[in-house]
Amino acid sequence: MTTTDHDHQDAPSDPALRVKALESLLVAKGLVDRAALEVLIDTYEHKIGPRNGARVVARAWSDPAYKQRLLSNADAAIAELGYGGMQGEHMVVVENTATIHNLVVCTLCSCYPWPVLGLPPVWYKSAPYRSRAVIDPRGVLREFGLHLADAVELRVWDSTAELRYLVLPERPAGTQSMDDTELAALVTRDAMVGVARITVQHGDRA
Ligand code: FE
Repeated sequence: MTTTDHDHQDAPSDPALRVKALESLLVAKGLVDRAALEVLIDTYEHKIGPRNGARVVARAWSDPAYKQRLLSNADAAIAELGYGGMQGEHMVVVENTATIHNLVVCTLCSCYPWPVLGLPPVWYKSAPYRSRAVIDPRGVLREFGLHLADAVELRVWDSTAELRYLVLPERPAGTQSMDDTELAALVTRDAMVGVARITVQHGDRA
């Protein structure tokens, strides 16, 4: 086991159970309202979710000036589209190119840009992903079905509570005639974490 000195490998084996227990306690003590909690979770899982990030990516693909603002000051550029807030302070956008691929992890826990990606998937929070994304990132990508050529430089970004990363994937070929809505529909959560590329299915092609 390696990773960094801020790793928490002795985390409980079943965090979901612990969260449930904590939630029950907070509700029992009258500290939180279960209905409010459900609304909050639903909002981040389904309404905010990765679609916000997809719109940011689509805009960056179609508007070079926006892309420059996004890469130089992500918080402000993301706020232009109306997104921001809790767990999204101090965003940094990293751009994939033909020669550079970016991968995002949080080795400490599960820091993740909520306003643009929603709640982190289970695998993102898992100990194997958090450690192996640093030790063997190419191996991790292969398991996700992404075979990176040796010539492509792989950059791994370790998120923290203060710094959250979003990958700007490469715009796929064959999308020249698509508008932002069509482009956004191509963008996946996994591509914005850096464990996938964006491909155009035949049906998508405009
Ligand atoms: Fe974290």
